[in-house]
Amino acid sequence: MSEQLSFVSPTANSPWGTYLSQVDRVVPYLGPLARWVETLKRPKRALIVDVPIEMDDGSIAHFEGYRVQHNMSRGPGKGGIRFHPDVTLEEVMALSAWMTIKTAAVNLPYGGAKGGIRVDPKKLSPQELEKVTRRYTSEIGIIIGPHTDIPAPDVNTNAQIMAWMMDTYSMNVGGTATGVVTGKPLHLGGSLGRVKATGRGVFVTGREAARRLGINLRGARIAVQGFGNVGSVAAELFAEAGAKIVAVQDHTGTIVNTNGLDLAKLVPISRTDGVVGFKAGGDIVPNEDFWNTPCDILIPAALEGQLTAERAQKTTAKLVLEGANGPTVPQADDILAERGVLVVPDVICNAGGVTVSYFEWVQDFSSFFWDEDEINVRLDRIMMNALNQIWDTADKHKITLRTATYAVACERILMARQERGLYP
Ligand code: NAD
Repeated sequence: MSEQLSFVSPTANSPWGTYLSQVDRVVPYLGPLARWVETLKRPKRALIVDVPIEMDDGSIAHFEGYRVQHNMSRGPGKGGIRFHPDVTLEEVMALSAWMTIKTAAVNLPYGGAKGGIRVDPKKLSPQELEKVTRRYTSEIGIIIGPHTDIPAPDVNTNAQIMAWMMDTYSMNVGGTATGVVTGKPLHLGGSLGRVKATGRGVFVTGREAARRLGINLRGARIAVQGFGNVGSVAAELFAEAGAKIVAVQDHTGTIVNTNGLDLAKLVPISRTDGVVGFKAGGDIVPNEDFWNTPCDILIPAALEGQLTAERAQKTTAKLVLEGANGPTVPQADDILAERGVLVVPDVICNAGGVTVSYFEWVQDFSSFFWDEDEINVRLDRIMMNALNQIWDTADKHKITLRTATYAVACERILMARQERGLYP
């Protein structure tokens, strides 16, 4: 008998509600391990912190921060830090849980964790941003560490922010603890290939899924939502493979060009002005039109909950590659499955980032750094092995790739839980 969690009220399509329904779907495939499934439905530990800073104008501002360690049965917590004004504890819980599933799906020796601050970093000066980062790191410093929980970048956080986090943690413990975060600058223990790793993983899994579906990448039409680290890198790799990027949406709007957008021009402009800054290269259309732009492959790579039931009905894509975490609500998942649209789920599709984060952490501990070819060869091998195993599981049970990924991952997590036993 287990009580409901009192501190969240998930709805069917909210991030934690989505995650819970994904876990429920996998129970029939867990056999005797299903006895342990409740352990996946509650975070191991959730920390809420106050982050006060003195602003440039002398006023004092307070921001709410979180670090959630969902599960550590298979190893230390691992997961990014998000700076966004809409971050909530419930969202961070779901993101941390998806990290648990993801690290197990690609068989990395980690659990799952995630953090965030309710802040719009675009409204902060560089000094204010550094203060928010350092104070937050110090507050969550009681639960993170190279052997306990290792943060990384996520939406609106980057290598500079990781450098400040590493420095703050190091100052507090007295030493230089490069292994406490990943996604660091190269000369501070960062890894080659990390910046592009998530987009590369989306490409590697997407290329294999396209091959199995008989979609020729040369000339394939691709729509990408979110044109940041994940979306823009994936788009570039698909374009290099001969695909046409026909629609791109970011927080500034949507641009469409049925002949294919010129990424060499779009990418640099988008970094300063957003994708609508590239008016010369395509048509700016209403945001909702993004979802019915004719395409073969759809890559949601912005935020969770974007692919709703209505949008799932509209899309012409035959393949959805989830670059973002949790972009598809459960009802949309069912609609896509009914319509014969294949979804490569987030927990495998975007696992390239955490995989190279793992390489970075290993390199930091051994103080021996690999070249980029070695990183990419190892990354491609891990992603392909994981995808093939999941595909076999999906074929065996005649289930979606998402449920198959959860089946493979949950079995690993719950087996570890069972073997460790309950303390005390
Ligand atoms: P980012 O901050 O670099 O880019 C986010 C992009 O989404 C930007 O182009 C932004 O304009 C766009 N966006 C934001 N709100 C939007 C909206 N309402 N509509 C349309 N576009 C919007 O972030 P990122 O690192 O590329 O992460 C994107 C997604 O991928 C997130 O869900 C993140 O959790 C996930 N992810 C990232 C990594 C990584 O290594 N960066 C790894 C795994 C998963």
